Parts: sequence; structure tokens; C-alpha cells
Amino acid sequence: MSADSRATKKVVVLGAGIIGMTTALLIQQQRPREYSVLVVAEHSINPYMKSAKTPSGKTVEYPETKMDFSALEMTSPIAGAHWRSLASNSDTFLQQTEALTYKHFMNLAIKHPNSGVRIVEGVDLYLNKKLVDDNNWHFSLVKDFKVVSDLPEGVEYATNYKTLVVNPIIYIDFCKRWFLMEGGKFVTGVRVKDLRELEAIAVNEFMSKGDKSPTPVAQHFSSNELTIINCAGLGGESINKSLVNTNSKLMYPVKGQVVLVYAPSMQHKTITKLGGKYMSYVIPRGSGTVILGGTHQPHEYTPDSDPMTTDRILEECLKLAPELVEGSPEDDFKSRLEILKSNVLDVKVGFRPGRVGGVNLSVDSMYGRSGNTIRIIHNYGHNGYGFQSSYGYAVHALNLLRQNKL
Ligand SMILES: Cc1cc2nc3c(=O)[nH]c(=O)nc-3n(C[C@H](O)[C@H](O)[C@H](O)COP(=O)(O)OP(=O)(O)OC[C@H]3O[C@@H](n4cnc5c(N)ncnc54)[C@H](O)[C@@H]3O)c2cc1C
Repeated sequence: MSADSRATKKVVVLGAGIIGMTTALLIQQQRPREYSVLVVAEHSINPYMKSAKTPSGKTVEYPETKMDFSALEMTSPIAGAHWRSLASNSDTFLQQTEALTYKHFMNLAIKHPNSGVRIVEGVDLYLNKKLVDDNNWHFSLVKDFKVVSDLPEGVEYATNYKTLVVNPIIYIDFCKRWFLMEGGKFVTGVRVKDLRELEAIAVNEFMSKGDKSPTPVAQHFSSNELTIINCAGLGGESINKSLVNTNSKLMYPVKGQVVLVYAPSMQHKTITKLGGKYMSYVIPRGSGTVILGGTHQPHEYTPDSDPMTTDRILEECLKLAPELVEGSPEDDFKSRLEILKSNVLDVKVGFRPGRVGGVNLSVDSMYGRSGNTIRIIHNYGHNGYGFQSSYGYAVHALNLLRQNKL
């Protein structure tokens, strides 16, 4: 169903990363008669097929998006990304959010193979059994769950189940195209100074782009019918701060370095090793490419990658997943590592939007330009779990809209 041009309530979503696009799509798609949705973002995903050469001279084509801006400004294209629960047995809210997303992704992978979401085998290896609750809540959620009895050296506990991997570039573009098909509006390339400026952009866009409301739309804005949804990731707090004039600083970046390699033989399994200084992971991205990680450095702002970290990631990941290099795992490790190095396509750095106290999912308000009240729903600060919780948080944002009669 396409958006009903008579929808009187206007929603403007700030941000076109995984959180903004999932939230905008869900509202536009589920409530087309009630809401007309506009996305405003400085940066967005513009996919193209990149042709890159590995050091060994192989030419590989895979989906990419231009990142001609600081990695601090948009995180989503860098993520692995895959679904691996981070909710503890006592955090029922995050459990519900992750479960909603797991089921949604499963559905997408089956019904929309072009969505960039795929079902794969997920292997979690725990160096210490204490790192996971006995009978963790997600054991009964995920499909084909089993405890692994044949443990690799140094691993105390391991599980295997069906999980999801997401190619962030294909998937966010899929959400954007679906959103536009449903009648959503999209403005990109605009850096918004504060939420009042966002209000002005929204008024302009809703009025100028063929809004056929029987009553002029500007009148609606003076009657509290514009809601802002703040999905600005790391930028979510500063854009809000300029408004509420608070000195509290809850947001911080969590730097992550990953290595993109060409490994066509490793496309149907994701492996995560937990314990040790950093979590290590191997996440297939499609087109024969795989993301290897990683690091987790809170409050670290430097955008450069570190060559020693790249070497450490490659070595750890090859130990985790010998399949990364074709041939016998019994062959000399050093020569296999050299082959893996010769298949590196890129080294990337991203900044997870960390927040003290977790995601800001809350309702707020401000005075608009003509003294009217404008409601704000915040949905930012998803740290390292923005993909695996994206749909659940979009459902929560839609529920907040409805419960507050916005
Ligand atoms: C290395 C790495 C691996 C990861 N792996 C996983 C994983 O396996 N699973 C998982 O679930 N998560 C993973 N994550 C986390 C995930 O990537 C993030 O949680 C998620 O991308 C955050 O998305 P977002 O939409 O909130 O922010 P972003 O993607 O940063 O988007 C922010 C948007 O807001 C816009 N914006 C901000 N300020 C302004 C402004 N003033 N004016 C206009 N526009 C503005 C930006 O232009 C952009 O469009 C990983 C992250 C990293 C770095």
C-alpha cells in the first residue's frame, strides 16, 4: 500500500543509517493512512559495485558505498553485521527487541533473498564457560540450537545455531527503496544544525513535494502534528543538546577495526570467539567477501587503522576458520596466513555509537518555530548491536508514537 496523501500526521526521521531507515520504513509501511514520513540525513547509502584488486592480483567485485567523510559520521556501512544475542537472561527488554529482529530477519531472508539478509550457521566459541548463562534465553529462540561437544583447543563451551548475516550496504538500500515505494520522502546531503532547523526542513519538504492534504500542511504543524524521530547515531546527543542546553555527555565512540577479505569458501558460516582481550569474528558478506574482526576501543577517536591490529585479526581469524583459505588446514600455518594476507581487499574503521545507560529510547518535546509543541522520539545509541536490534527498536518507536497519540 502506498502512503495516503491525506495522512495528516507528519513524521521526520533524522538519520539514514540502519536505525533511521528501519524506523522510517516500518512507520510508513504499517501506518500509511496515519503518517507521512520524511527521512533527513547528511549521509546515506549509495551502493555501487566496487572492483578491487587483492594483493595477489585477483579482481573482486562487491557492493560498496562511498565513504568520503569521517567514519565518525556514519557507522552502519562498516558493520559486519550479524545477529548474536547480547541480552543477558535478566534483560527482558533487550531480549524482546533482539527476538523481534531475529524473526523479522528470518522472514526477510526467506521471502526477500535480494534483501542482503541471509541465514547461515552461527558458531559461538567461549574461552570460558562463565561467559554465558546456563540456558541463556536465546538458546530457545534460535533455530536448530545445539551445544557442540567436539571443542577446539582452549575452548570451554560452544554452541551452534541458525543465525543471520546482513550485508549493510545491500540491506539499508533495500529498506530505502522499499520506503520510497511506500511513498516515503527522502532528503540527503543536509547537515542539520539543531532540531529547529530540522523542523524548518520538514515544513518545506512536506509543503513543496506535492502534499495534497485538503488542509494546507503548514496549519497542521502549528497544531502539534509533526513528530521528530532522532536516529542520528553518534550525533544523536549533540543535536539534542543544542536544544535542551545540558552539559551531560553520555555518548562516546567505540572504535572497531575490521578487515575485508576475499574468501569464497567461507560464505555459509559465521564464527565468533568470546573471551580474551577482543572478540574475534568471521562474518561472510556475500560476493565472496568476508569481514574479519575485530577491536572494541571505547572513547577512541582516531580514524586510522593499525597495521599490527590487522595482522593480529588475520592470524586469529585464520585459527578460528581454516576454511578462509582453500586447501588443507594441516598445511603450514604461516604459508596459509600469507595466502590470507594476499586476499585482503580493505581495512576499515568504524565507531559504534556507545551511550552510558544504553540506547536512548524516550519521548521528549520542544517548542517549534511558532511556539507550537513538537514531540521528539529519541532512538539512538545502539553501540555494537544496531543491526541485530534494529527492527525491535523500530517497533518500540512506532509503539511510542501510538501510545503517546503522536
Ligand atoms: C566494526 C563494527 C562491527 C559491528 N558489528 C555489528 C554486528 O555484527 N551486529 C550489529 O547488530 N551491530 C554491529 N555494529 C554496530 C552497528 O554498526 C551500529 O549499532 C549501527 O550501525 C548504528 O546505526 P545508526 O543508524 O544508529 O547510526 P549511523 O549508521 O551512524 O547513522 C547515523 C545517521 O544520522 C545522520 N546524522 C547524524 N547527525 C546528523 C546531523 N546533524 N544532520 C544530518 N544528519 C545527521 C548521519 O548522516 C547518518 O545518516 C558494528 C559496528 C562496528 C563499528
